[in-house]
Amino acid sequence: MITLECPKCGAESKLSFVEKDYVGPRRCWKCHEYFTIKIEDNVLKSCEPMTEEEYQKQQEIEALKAKFKK
Ligand SMILES: [Zn+2]
Repeated sequence: MITLECPKCGAESKLSFVEKDYVGPRRCWKCHEYFTIKIEDNVLKSCEPMTEEEYQKQQEIEALKAKFKK
């Protein structure tokens, strides 16, 4: 379980992942800010804010990945 602190408003959210490594978009439940998180070995490595446009793009990439996963 990873506690993610929003870089903008400081709201904490608990995340749990099946995989130990994760890079992907998140959205703050409180201030609705978008950011990219990077997790390595169950440790949060970075949390970069991003624009809504970038978020949409990321979502499309994720959707594509899911589509091609077998
Ligand atoms: Zn926030």
